[in-house]
Amino acid sequence: MPTAAGENSETHDRVAFHADPAAGLRVATAVHRRVAAACVVCCRMHPYPSDELATADALRLSRGISLSCAFAGLPYGGAALVVRGDPRRQKTAALMAAIRRRLSEFRDDDPVLEDIGMAPADVLALRPAIAAATRPLDPSMMTARGLLRGIEAALARVRGTTDLHGCRVAVQGLGRVGMALADCLHDAGAELIVADLSPAKVALAEKWYRARGVSPDIVHTAAVDVFAPCAVGGTLTASTIPELRSRIIAGSAGDQLAEPSLRHALADRGVLMTPDFVVNAGGLITLHGTTRGDAPDAVRARVDAIHAALLDVFESAARKGLPPLDVAEARARRNDDPVPPRRAA
Ligand code: NAD
Repeated sequence: MPTAAGENSETHDRVAFHADPAAGLRVATAVHRRVAAACVVCCRMHPYPSDELATADALRLSRGISLSCAFAGLPYGGAALVVRGDPRRQKTAALMAAIRRRLSEFRDDDPVLEDIGMAPADVLALRPAIAAATRPLDPSMMTARGLLRGIEAALARVRGTTDLHGCRVAVQGLGRVGMALADCLHDAGAELIVADLSPAKVALAEKWYRARGVSPDIVHTAAVDVFAPCAVGGTLTASTIPELRSRIIAGSAGDQLAEPSLRHALADRGVLMTPDFVVNAGGLITLHGTTRGDAPDAVRARVDAIHAALLDVFESAARKGLPPLDVAEARARRNDDPVPPRRAA
């Protein structure tokens, strides 16, 4: 995963790195900020090559949560707990117990949200008291729902219709969000091209959704209407952007651009990019609504409102001649100052 360009401990309230050799834990924690004394703690586990890259990801992830919450008007700041390790081999009971001890850095009632390498069951194990009482079963399903609404908004802007029949979408990453998105898109009549590091997940999507599996190295080059990055951040680089053949980018992965300044390269190519922290907020919106005890219909309506919010961002961006990311970041800052802009590299 790439480094967090322009971010460091000065842009965040707190950042730390801890090692617990007995439990095999190496973990970076970051609090970007607290809002009304609360923050959502996003929990990720990934085999980073170094402690520095794990820390950089914690900084970036926590800032992304702050932006999502600020844009959606949720009363939380962003925080992250990022474990350096392979979740398939190293997620032992001892490691989970050590992560639970690390969570004591945060408030007992700070919501915890699973991310790459962590499952809803892991969060239940980490925070049994609040998780069992108030949390949605799988927030990722609602992240996928919001993403679908975002794709429809982008299609409305580019093609004048939200109809997905015959629309071609390439999904990069078939994890909890990517697979749920593939399911929604297939139901809506879209044709799918998919890629994942796991051949088993690709085989399932081929079987369930008549998707065409391609190599993760080339999925971004597919001739499609929409490219949906739903794996890791930083996959849109100075090398991959010229190879894109889609006019729309809409995916759940945070910080899809390896460098913030690449948003201009996309705009120059006529590619409409939906801001990640807007389109991937469905899980956070659901977490908040469920915690408050809102009715499921009301929660779904708030997730669906991502569609109208994005149309508004696209319209404003076109009027001002700015990339949609600039407009969305400015709105998030206005909603809940201060979320400082990332410095362009
Ligand atoms: P996940 O761990 O369930 O799935 C990620 C998938 O991507 C895995 O199947 C993995 O094999 C695959 N992958 C990794 N590198 C890849 C590559 N280079 N090419 C193709 N596939 C690759 O994670 P998730 O919960 O589905 O989240 C996906 C992305 O969306 C993450 O970036 C996450 O931060 C972001 N996100 C998730 C949520 C949520 O509700 N889960 C909310 C907001 C943002």
